[in-house]
Amino acid sequence: MDEHYSSPEWNLDEWKSAWNIGVGNVYRCSRCGNMIIVVKGGTGTLEPRCHGAPMVPVEKSR
Ligand SMILES: [Zn+2]
Repeated sequence: MDEHYSSPEWNLDEWKSAWNIGVGNVYRCSRCGNMIIVVKGGTGTLEPRCHGAPMVPVEKSR
């Protein structure tokens, strides 16, 4: 019965990380260097834009 939850491409953790907007996520504008950081988490898609271009997520140091 649980087979439907495990797709070959995406497991549950990957879905969570793809849809969760985590506190501390940082996005940067490649044009002007403006940076934003998420201070309140949520669920959905976050696509911040600056200068009409999508801001790129900055990898957190692990
Ligand atoms: Zn900018």
